[in-house]
Amino acid sequence: MRKRWWALSALSVLLVGGAAFAVIEEPAFGMYACPSCYGFQQSGDGLYLDGEMSGEARDETLGMIAAATDRVTDFYGTFGGKPLIFICATDACDKRMKYRGAKAKAFGETYILVYSQGRSTMFLAHELSHIELAHRLGLSRVASNAIPAWFNEGLAVLISEDTRNFENSESGDPQCITPPDGPLPAGMYEWSRALADRDRPLYAMAACAVIRWMRKNNGRESVLKTLDQVATGAAFKP
Ligand SMILES: [Zn+2]
Repeated sequence: MRKRWWALSALSVLLVGGAAFAVIEEPAFGMYACPSCYGFQQSGDGLYLDGEMSGEARDETLGMIAAATDRVTDFYGTFGGKPLIFICATDACDKRMKYRGAKAKAFGETYILVYSQGRSTMFLAHELSHIELAHRLGLSRVASNAIPAWFNEGLAVLISEDTRNFENSESGDPQCITPPDGPLPAGMYEWSRALADRDRPLYAMAACAVIRWMRKNNGRESVLKTLDQVATGAAFKP
């Protein structure tokens, strides 16, 4: 009995220690629990803005969120996700939130964090696209990469109109800039690791792979149908 008690205590110390370490390593977890502890001010329903953001920037940001939501809704038909949105506008906020190069991040279907350099309609729409996909799929299917990372990312590039990574033809059909140079990462973890290779334009390759997939299938309709099917247990067909 005593032995088990000790084992449990040791485990709980490890778990609490682990959680504390996770919060230190990734302040976005702590921010979610206590926005004001990280300098965010609630500025609307589910919206937390950098407390140092000017009034003018606030108005501008609200416009960006509305435009980004429109882009995502245009593609999906509806936007069912209800994420909390956290937005930095200053170096101090970026630093507090440990900016490491990714200009924005989505956490499941729960919340997004946008750093000052990502404060734009495009970056917001990219993350909101991830949110909507996660909302439709459910957390466990997102976590098990039921939709491959390259598809999720390529779709976010197209929906957010990120024309750094694809071209719009005159007819409005998206065109590839960089075809994939081989298989693209299917897992989110592998995707994040692969991003370290700066010579490989992964987002452009993923957008191209999604453009090809949509041509081979029935475009946007096939994407929506596939998400519905994968959400109920079907396997994704690349
Ligand atoms: Zn992304």
